[in-house]
Amino acid sequence: MTRDKPLIEAVGVEKRFGGYTALKGCSMAVAPGETVVLIGPSGSGKSTFLRCINLLEPPDSGSILFKGKEVGRDFASAVRLRREIGMVFQNFELFQHLDAAENIMLAPMKVLGLSRHDAHDIALGLLAKVRIRDKADSYPDELSGGQQQRVAIARALAMKPAVMLYDEPTSALDPEMIREVLDVMADLSAEGMTSVVVTHEMGFAKRAADRIVFMEAGEIVETRASADFFGGAVGARARQFLDQIL
Ligand code: ADP
Ligand code: MG
Repeated sequence: MTRDKPLIEAVGVEKRFGGYTALKGCSMAVAPGETVVLIGPSGSGKSTFLRCINLLEPPDSGSILFKGKEVGRDFASAVRLRREIGMVFQNFELFQHLDAAENIMLAPMKVLGLSRHDAHDIALGLLAKVRIRDKADSYPDELSGGQQQRVAIARALAMKPAVMLYDEPTSALDPEMIREVLDVMADLSAEGMTSVVVTHEMGFAKRAADRIVFMEAGEIVETRASADFFGGAVGARARQFLDQIL
């Protein structure tokens, strides 16, 4: 079987905070169109790993490769990489003083230099895609958590990222809103959006993930094809974790 060469790859990424080692040499390659679900206990380094992948945190050692090329450590290289990567956080992090459409329009106007008119068209298209076209003029505090998170996803998509990173995108949501966000993410994955998703939502993992990566104490302990993982091929430590969350 031929395997596409990775779109994005972390090689031996180490990260220390003071004397504490949060990532102990983590490597992961994500192929174009692939969806990887990253699981593991709280404090295992999942968020730090995502932040190293898009160089929001500079790794202490190891490297990040995008389309096979190592990304430089200089500021400009990090900024270029981040343009290719959409990031969605647990707490949405929308601009409160901008309505939904304006939240989405900001980067296309400021970074890509689009006109207000063109950026607005893009925003409306993306709001339709995340199924809240009617909320274009609503401010974040007028939206439910699930709607705010879908605006955040649309905002990330506005820059036409090559990869989406999601850090526990539904863990701040009321249970009845989790599904609407996961459905949007699963649709994007099914359309071929390369994605890395930190989540405890194993139903989502089962339907959307190609691979499951299990992290513990700053290390990648296990990587499995989703079908194998859900078929029961799970190591002892991952099994113990799953027994706690399921
Ligand atoms: P996870 O997302 O899996 O819960 P994190 O990546 O947030 O784990 O954290 C991994 C470890 O690194 C934790 O022990 C956390 O306290 C520590 N850590 C994360 N960010 C920082 C930081 N900015 N400064 C100091 N310690 C941090
Ligand atoms: Mg985290």
